[in-house]
Amino acid sequence: MSIEEPPKHILIVEDEDALAKGMQFNFEQEGYEVSVAGDGPSALASFARQPGGIDLIILDLMLPGMSGFEILAKVRELDPFVPVLILSAKRLSEDRAHAFDLGTDQYLTKPFALPELISRVRNLLRKRANKPPSSGEIVTPPEKNTVEKFRFGDVEVDFDAYEVKVGDKVHSLTTMEFQLLRYFIEHKGRVLSRSELLENVWKESAEITTRSVDNFVLRLRKIIEENSADPRYLVSVRGTGYRFIPHPDAQDQPLNHFTP
Ligand code: CA
Repeated sequence: MSIEEPPKHILIVEDEDALAKGMQFNFEQEGYEVSVAGDGPSALASFARQPGGIDLIILDLMLPGMSGFEILAKVRELDPFVPVLILSAKRLSEDRAHAFDLGTDQYLTKPFALPELISRVRNLLRKRANKPPSSGEIVTPPEKNTVEKFRFGDVEVDFDAYEVKVGDKVHSLTTMEFQLLRYFIEHKGRVLSRSELLENVWKESAEITTRSVDNFVLRLRKIIEENSADPRYLVSVRGTGYRFIPHPDAQDQPLNHFTP
């Protein structure tokens, strides 16, 4: 027999009693431990009472008194990493963007299908459980395609020396700045959310929030952009995160300008 893990504990924040009870019943059937809170203050109290004891939060947005957005912001102050799934009737893309800006992991709209909700919860918990222990040092294990130098515009990134050369000027980067730049380069062209960056670049080691990601990006921009106020390479994607475009003038060409 395998050693049984303690059941994962889900906090459901939902003011519609019947819906909350229905979800509670179904998640308990799936083997989870479930707490229910009908408003913000009791949700936060329940979360604060059990530090590290809540494994995932299912959060409604329209609640009496304190909105789900406010709750999410407070939860993120307490714990940048606990998985949050917003379950809301709000369907507007602005609401979704706001929720992701505040640090939700998923957003599911009502009405929803229960099996989908359960699968999403399971995935979020699995993803979290599979995370390697945080070291905060080596972030990206060297991959087969990792190159020692990468060039774009008049910028040359030297992965061995942790240096970035812009024209004739050489900038030394901190480890974290460099790891972030490396992640952008390895995922060039792709929209990267703040939470993905947090998860993959910082792991869970540092006391860092999505706002710190923004600060690191600003620092990188000051180094690699001609005009950091009007970035061309490291562009913001509203409501989501960032995208690294090594060749902004030639986006339809293959982006494989590696140097040997
Ligand atoms: Ca509601």
